[in-house]
Amino acid sequence: MAVLGIRIIGDPVLRTRADEVTEFTPELKKLVADMDETMENVDGAGLAAPQVGVSQRVFTYQVDGVRGHIVNPVLELSDELQEPAMEGCLSIPGIAGKVARHRTVRATGFDVEGNPLTLEAEGLLARCLQHETDHLDGVLFLDRLSAADRKAAWRTLRAGNYNATASSTVTQRASALGSSFGAGMGR
Ligand code: ZN
Repeated sequence: MAVLGIRIIGDPVLRTRADEVTEFTPELKKLVADMDETMENVDGAGLAAPQVGVSQRVFTYQVDGVRGHIVNPVLELSDELQEPAMEGCLSIPGIAGKVARHRTVRATGFDVEGNPLTLEAEGLLARCLQHETDHLDGVLFLDRLSAADRKAAWRTLRAGNYNATASSTVTQRASALGSSFGAGMGR
């Protein structure tokens, strides 16, 4: 296993819709094992394959002791939303912001062996599954911020001032969620 390099915003792979996995190969198993190790290494709550430069529909997650991976995930979302909460992203170091997410998720997909799996989630895990699935569609949490927060986030990004500690929401030190999604924020 190996710890993989994490792609940072600006890399086109993060803005590309990832391909469906069509074959459950040893390479896929190795990818997921490496992603798992990488996620562990940076203490992330989730990691999607495009974040390590692989445009395939698979992500790993570890939230509140629940840990796993999903290949070709499909999400069924509750109509009801959960309270907006801070998110960060390993691919967008130093930026966090409040994102609205659906309250519950029923995720279906496959494990690395090609066995079908289903995962029901709420709260933080539901949020994580939505964040990671977004990555597979080339969507970043920045896209889901309020207009004002998005503007502030981009201003910070453009300034290359990732560690700004202005009073703006997006530059506040992340809550537990933000820090776990985007390890190292606020350092
Ligand atoms: Zn992310």
